[in-house]
Amino acid sequence: MTAKIIDGNDIARRVRAEWKHRVDALRDQGVRPGLAVIIVGDNPASQVYVRHKTKACADIGIHSEKHEFPQGTPEQAVLDLIARLNENTAIHGILVQLPLPPQFDSRRVLEAIAVEKDVDGFNLYNVGALVAGDTVFPPCTPFGVQCMLEYSNIPISGQNVVVVGASNIVGKPMAMMLMKKDATVCITHIKTRDLAQFTILADILVVAAGKPMLITAPMVKTGAVVIDVGINRLPDGRLVGDVDFDAIREKASYISPVPGGVGPMTVTMLLVNTIQSAERFAANRDAAKRVMAG
Ligand code: NAP
Repeated sequence: MTAKIIDGNDIARRVRAEWKHRVDALRDQGVRPGLAVIIVGDNPASQVYVRHKTKACADIGIHSEKHEFPQGTPEQAVLDLIARLNENTAIHGILVQLPLPPQFDSRRVLEAIAVEKDVDGFNLYNVGALVAGDTVFPPCTPFGVQCMLEYSNIPISGQNVVVVGASNIVGKPMAMMLMKKDATVCITHIKTRDLAQFTILADILVVAAGKPMLITAPMVKTGAVVIDVGINRLPDGRLVGDVDFDAIREKASYISPVPGGVGPMTVTMLLVNTIQSAERFAANRDAAKRVMAG
């Protein structure tokens, strides 16, 4: 068996084309979706991610503004900016690029973002809503994985899903989202004994550990769907995921590559969350107008 490749670039293009229509519809109602991105310090990877996000915004017609602070900035300066952005009606999404420098309490900063503008979905309200099964903003990376499965017509309901990695931004929300879609989900992490005894059971295996070659072919069931979230830079400069792509490709039914898999989907879902936020803003504004008009 040779797996079909889940082409994240292609799915991202299709999703963005669909959502571009919704940006156009909002424009006709006098609303342009707006995203504010806050970046502190000069982490080169963060600079690249922010560049990708602002370019994707421009391409689809979202207004984006970058707020950049030097490494030594006190936390209060960022909290003050977030308070102003929370009140700014031209901004429908606020994103703080992580990691923040050590003098910051990241949790306090994320909590300062208004729930209705938390397009990354990291505010505790949105985390809790995800657990309760009714999130406002699904976190972008697992949301992107779910979208890849759906666009590839891969059934989720009743499937055995194993998520490798239990971080707050990928593994845990991924598990919650697929459980909501009626999968039977198992999460593994660094302390999991004999990882293979879990991964071999997976109909859908989502790997987000940040360890090159963590998952090898004998750990994967024949015909499984393998989604590789990992991004690792090897000493020779190559970018790879967490799975042995070439060997697993001969055994799986579907596999997502790195690069060109989950990465483009993460940025795409940020656009989706921002557009949806602007749609909610427009609907609330129109409802308020109707009330005022009696
Ligand atoms: P993270 O915060 O470092 O979390 C990694 C998780 O993997 C942790 O839960 C860790 O367990 C677990 N883990 C580590 N080694 C393991 C092992 N040998 N067996 C089982 N579990 C293991 O990383 P993250 O932010 O979730 O990101 C994970 C990977 O995805 C990274 O490579 C990152 O670059 C990539 N990523 C990609 C995108 C994208 O858009 N494509 C977006 C976000 C992240 P413990 O909790 O027990 O330590």
